[in-house]
Amino acid sequence: MIDVLIIGSGPAGLSAAIYARRANLEVTVLEKLYMELGQVVLSRQVDNYLGMPGMNGYDMGEAFRRHAQDFGAKFLEGEVVGIKKEGDLFHVLLGNGTTLVARTVVYAAGAAHRHLNVPGEEELAGRGVSYCAVCDGAFYRNKTVAVAGGGNTALDDALYLSELCSKVYLIHRREEFRGAQATLLKLREKENVTILAPAGIAAVEGENKVSGIALLDGRKIECQGLFIAVGMEPQTGLLKGFAELDQIGYVLADETGKTSMEGFFAAGDVRAKALRQVVTAAADGANAAVSAAEYLRG
Ligand code: NAP
Repeated sequence: MIDVLIIGSGPAGLSAAIYARRANLEVTVLEKLYMELGQVVLSRQVDNYLGMPGMNGYDMGEAFRRHAQDFGAKFLEGEVVGIKKEGDLFHVLLGNGTTLVARTVVYAAGAAHRHLNVPGEEELAGRGVSYCAVCDGAFYRNKTVAVAGGGNTALDDALYLSELCSKVYLIHRREEFRGAQATLLKLREKENVTILAPAGIAAVEGENKVSGIALLDGRKIECQGLFIAVGMEPQTGLLKGFAELDQIGYVLADETGKTSMEGFFAAGDVRAKALRQVVTAAADGANAAVSAAEYLRG
């Protein structure tokens, strides 16, 4: 019997796995894909995790996973398509038809990229439209690209791409940026970066591949790539009616990870909270696992 089924293998899920194993519980980590590791793998360099400045995001995720595995957590691949509670047990249905039965669940499924939902975006995804500068940036060496968004991801992406590309447009819908002012200052000093704010994107243009962007004010920008970094949406669609969510869809749970459903805990980016970082995800995972252990002890 699985004592703690952890859904998601990002820093929150893996941290929960370590804490739950140290409590001597049977732990299975469910990941959508082998070595999924969460969003941390998209960071070329993580500079704000205690004691590991400059660590590559993939290396960090891999180290977290190895740690959990070495402590005896089991890993399974599968996509959750349904969750229900029968008596005291959770039944988690996977896309391949398997059902996993567990005494507790730590839900750490993270968040997915938000879309702009403008004409051309879907059609040209993978043909110039990208949601990951670190993954796809190298394809645009010495080319002109645009980055959409005003948060830390957009600013970091624009800075990263400014080292590779001949020209980078940073397009944000408001004049104020919510991302770090220090990064914004660096971008303003770059000769090959042009900041367009406020500016809205009306459409992504191109036949089979991106050739430019049409702005809402009628301006056109010629570019070969558009990196969309307009935030994330929590992966909580399955939880509607099962556990309480906030208006945006984040799981309502306090620091302990306890949700409105007994025995079901939330950790990491899926939880309604102020700061979504590797360090806060890891802390959430630890808290959720300790709460699960306490719950199992009755
Ligand atoms: P975010 O902070 O939510 O920012 C999303 C940005 O996209 C905002 O500027 C928002 O505009 C804009 N936006 C949202 N929907 C839009 C739409 N439909 N059309 C146009 N623009 C839209 O998301 P994030 O940058 O991905 O960051 C997520 C979290 O990770 C944050 O807490 C961030 O601090 C953290 N993070 C930290 C680092 C770091 O510390 N180095 C790096 C990356 C991410 P408005 O501002 O107008 O709402």
